[in-house]
Amino acid sequence: PYTGPSAVDILSKRKEYLSPSMFYFYQKPLNVVDGRMQYLFDENGRRYLDAFGGIATVSCGHCHPDVVDAIVNQTKRLQHSTILYLNNAIADFAEALANKLPGNLKVVFFTNSGTEANELAMMIARLYTGCHDIISLRNAYHGNAAGTMGATAQSNWKFNVIQSGVHHAINPDPYRGVFGSEGEKYAKDVQDLIQFGTSGNIAGFISEAIQGVGGIIELAPGYMPAVYSTIKKAGGLCIADEVQAGFARTGSHFWGFENHGVVPDIVTMAKVNLLTVMGIGNGIPLGAVVTTPEIAEVLTRRSYFNTFGGNPVCTAAGLAVLKVIEKEKLQENAHVVGSHLKERLTALKDKYDLIGDVRGRGLMLGVELVTDHKLKTPAKLETLHIMEQLKEIGVLVGKGGFYGNVFRMTPPLCFTKEDADFLVDAMDYTMGKM
Ligand code: PMP
Repeated sequence: PYTGPSAVDILSKRKEYLSPSMFYFYQKPLNVVDGRMQYLFDENGRRYLDAFGGIATVSCGHCHPDVVDAIVNQTKRLQHSTILYLNNAIADFAEALANKLPGNLKVVFFTNSGTEANELAMMIARLYTGCHDIISLRNAYHGNAAGTMGATAQSNWKFNVIQSGVHHAINPDPYRGVFGSEGEKYAKDVQDLIQFGTSGNIAGFISEAIQGVGGIIELAPGYMPAVYSTIKKAGGLCIADEVQAGFARTGSHFWGFENHGVVPDIVTMAKVNLLTVMGIGNGIPLGAVVTTPEIAEVLTRRSYFNTFGGNPVCTAAGLAVLKVIEKEKLQENAHVVGSHLKERLTALKDKYDLIGDVRGRGLMLGVELVTDHKLKTPAKLETLHIMEQLKEIGVLVGKGGFYGNVFRMTPPLCFTKEDADFLVDAMDYTMGKM
């Protein structure tokens, strides 16, 4: 049993010693002390079904024994920097990762986070093309350092950043967007931005296949192929941010972009799906940029390194995660359980007017709550209320979207049909009492 400080003590320390900008879910924040696969446990041993752990990139489950063993064994043997010497853990994971990517995407740069991966990807695109302009999507989240905060396009997450050379295109949002699901119509806006907002040549385009922080928004069908071809014509590189949608999460495919039939020039990832919602490292800080040998060459023009990105312990964990995804057929599980969960959530939508939209793919699903179907008025307070009630029942879901009215369901990929049923039954029970 847990014998550490209580939630109240931790909260008071946190208030005194930690960043005042840190936020947490729930009026009475949860003190999680143990994790086991799809479950989290609080200090009283109470169990919670974790339907949101995927964002920390817990792809194969909290404390998966194979991943824990890999981390412990590598830690006992050696933990060091990624640079200076040879080490098999780093090379082995780079090879395994490259083998999961299509085309000529073969060269891996490791980082410590998704932000770093996207910063690097944008820098590479700028170096390779000799251009500065980058197009990203409104409602996107790509990180919180200078360049990535510029590419991020939600005022909620932006400080006083100089958005040098970044243009934000109309979001191909099938639910709220003006063109509904007609992807090619939205793509025209990217063409306009290039024609009227740049010299005609650009460095690149960055997008998620399914926006995570933005509220689980699947880019409208047809959008990515049309935009990728526009970008290529303008000399730019296409960057796919797979921090959330990668690593088997969408079920039908290993990478989110594959659902759209495109092959990017640069892919970024983190959290293996390595770790989080979509993490590479199952909760170990690990990010990566993967590109072609020709594009990677630009980084030989100067010295470039990342001291800890892809260190032996993190890459040993990453390799273990990839093996677990394969051994336990987690991609297939994401497809089967995700389809079941989406079906049940869709049925719930027919029952409750409060649900305006159910969307997503595999185990990356969103439920948007509105008080008026026509006006799509965000049901922000209702979302908060339901989230609190679900916690009381023992179910943890995420929340997102610009208006904070979308439930994000991105559980560890070991989530079962029974878990999905419990989650939906808990929602049904809670909404039935409102
Ligand atoms: N890209 C996407 C799509 C993300 O969701 C996030 C964070 N959730 C990031 C980039 C930034 O990753 P990190 O917080 O690891 O820097």
